[in-house]
This record gives sequence, structure tokens and C-alpha cells, in this order.
Amino acid sequence: MAKLKIGPDKRGNVAICEGGKVIFYGAASSAPDVAVDEVLDAKNAEILPGWVCSHTHLYSALCPYGMPAPENKPENFTQILERIWWRLDRAIDKDILRASARVYVAECLLRGTTSIVDHHESPNYIEGSLDTLADAYEEFGARGLLTYGATDRNFGKSEGKRGIDECVRFIKENKRPLVKGLVGLHAQFTCSNDTIKYAGDKARELGVGIHVHVAEGSADVEDAINRGYKSPADRIEKLGALVPHSIWVHCIHMSAEETRHVANAGAWFVQNPRSNHGNAVGWPYNLRYAQKVALGVDGWSGDMDVELDFAKKEADAQGDDPINEIHRLYSGWRLIGDFFDIDCGPFNSVENCRRSIKTSAADLRIVEDDGHVRHTVVDGKVVVRDGKLVHGDIDQIRKEAQEQANRLWAEMVKYPETYEYHYDD
Ligand SMILES: [Zn+2]
Repeated sequence: MAKLKIGPDKRGNVAICEGGKVIFYGAASSAPDVAVDEVLDAKNAEILPGWVCSHTHLYSALCPYGMPAPENKPENFTQILERIWWRLDRAIDKDILRASARVYVAECLLRGTTSIVDHHESPNYIEGSLDTLADAYEEFGARGLLTYGATDRNFGKSEGKRGIDECVRFIKENKRPLVKGLVGLHAQFTCSNDTIKYAGDKARELGVGIHVHVAEGSADVEDAINRGYKSPADRIEKLGALVPHSIWVHCIHMSAEETRHVANAGAWFVQNPRSNHGNAVGWPYNLRYAQKVALGVDGWSGDMDVELDFAKKEADAQGDDPINEIHRLYSGWRLIGDFFDIDCGPFNSVENCRRSIKTSAADLRIVEDDGHVRHTVVDGKVVVRDGKLVHGDIDQIRKEAQEQANRLWAEMVKYPETYEYHYDD
């Protein structure tokens, strides 16, 4: 098996990677004298674990390429969905999604984000969409979790079933070792009872969790109450879709009691501070009652240093503890570790150095003092070397993104800003 040596870094440490693991990390003077196939320079830099982005939407990666503003300014979160995101997602086809996924994954790796947890929707391109996303991960060498966020809102129950079936198909057929699938729902308020039940049945059958937005806006809560449930969480549970290994995103309007209850059922939670602020949906105070909380970006850039900076400032402004945000970013390692059954993350504590931890996943970022990412390594393979993608040309990828973005904006504006919901129950 090929061996990769990184360093010594500015602390005098080296990492030796083999078979996707860090087999040695510690002082260069105590490193084993083994023949290596490649050496990465880490002078004046530091060897650190790669970041995990625990929730995002690759389909929105073209937004910085000139997305037109809606004609009528949204005044609440539901209108943001109706006038922006639900027009955009219906306009996505395979070429647009491919360009979107490629530029997002590539930019993540260039910023040292080695794992990306995606939640996808493209109502007019459902079947095969998860493969288009997975191909981008595989092309550039990223690790991550994929799901289709099933919904009935455009075409009724048949749409919900197709979304879940796309997850099931992908979970069964995918052979890419660094990518795994989950069952997904958009959010309970855009799903019929049958679709939520079907998601729960399929997730249990396959032994996987459900990745779902919960109580992001107050409209989700009102919807569940109008349907005769106590809350979105209550509806999801009563319909059999609170399953182990799930990822519950946002959970802003959720009580302390419910948060504890869902946490005890084994779910992960993901907070998305920039997105929550942008959508003015509130701050998730009750996530403090859960142990497994990670940090996501919800479609914003996958630069986790930027998300963390924002999260700390916003936590402070909200009267919450900024330290939680650091813990949540670090918890992404545990999340990925759980789903891939690997040890991920902080191999670089003093204790671990002394013990020469041998099992950490070789998902690393080599960072200079000014924050510039010099190299990125995933599963022991170099994917960014000296600030450049190993398996792609970022200028070309951005050019393709701009071309497809132009197509996307032309398609998107054909959909009306008023939204007609399609539910069968
Ligand atoms: Zn989201």
C-alpha cells in the first residue's frame, strides 16, 4: 500500500498515512523510518484534521454566479422558499446539477473541508440525481453523505415516493467507498402522511437514518399543529420516521423536552448559523440539550472557518455560549466517524501524539498561519497540492459553473413567484 508522509510541520510533527489511515502522527524524531511514496511539505504550516460540513445543498452552489433577485421581496421564510429556492430547484437539470456539484465540492476541498453532508432536491430531475452528485465527490476525492429530500409539494405523493426511491436505489447501488446514502425528506410540512411513513419504512428496512429539516421556520410548527399533532417532531415520530442514525437539521422551534427526546432516539442535529440568520428564522437555543450537534452551512460556501467565525459572533449576540459553536464544528468529525465507522478528527492532541494513535482517518488539511490551505488529503490521498486541485482545474470548473448558471437563471425565471402546493392529504 502506498505511503504518504506529511511534514515536519511548524510544530516539528509529521504524519504518515497508509491505507486511508494516519498510521503515525508525532515528533519527526520519533517517526518510524519507513520508505514512503510521496512527501508533502508542511514547513511553516500545521497538519490538522480536515473540516466536516455537516449539512448543505450542493444544488445551490451556482447562486454566487449571478442569481437574479426575486421581483417581489420575500417577507418571511415561506416566501423565501417559494420565491427563491423552489423556483431554483425546479429549474435544475443534469448539466446544471453536475456543474453545481463540481464547483461546490472543488471549493470545499480547496478550503480544507474534506467531508460534505448534502441534502438534495431537483423535482424535475429526480432519478439519477444522487449519482450526478456522487460523481463529483468521486472525481475530486471528497468524502460525504448524500440524500434526496423527498417532498410532495410539486406533484403530489408520487413525487414523494420517487424521491425516497431515489435514495433507496442509490443506497443499494452505490459502490463509491467515500460516499454513502441516507433516506431524506425535505420537511414534514411539504410531505403527506404516506410519504413520511414510507420514508420511515425504507430507512428501517435499510438500517439508515433520515436526513430532514425540522422546525426551521414557525410555518413548519403551525402546519403540524393544524394537522392535529403537537409539533413537527411529534408528527415525524407518530408516522414512524424517527429512526436511529437520523440527521435533524435546524430544530429552531423545538422545545427542550422534544430536543432531549429526539437526541435520546439517537439522532444527530445540525445547526446552520449563517443560513438561520439570513432567513431570520431564529436561534436554536434548545440544541444545548442534545449531545450530538454538528455545524452546517445550508447551501452557503463550505468554508467552515467562515461559518465558525460567524457562528461565534452570532452566539454571543444571541446570549448563547460561543464555545458551543467550536464544539459543534468539531462534532462533525464524530458525525462522519459514526456514519463511516472510522475514527475521525483530533489525532493531534498531546496525549494522542504520545500514544501514536494509529487508526485516525487520513482526512487532513495542511494550513498556513494566515489560514491558507496548502494541501488537502482525503482517505490518505492528496486531493489539493500546493493550493491546487489534483484532479481538476478550478478555473475551468468555475467557467463551467458560470455557463450553467446562465442557463439556470434563464429557466428559473419561467416559474412563477406564487407557489401552488400539491398535496393529496
Ligand atoms: Zn438545508
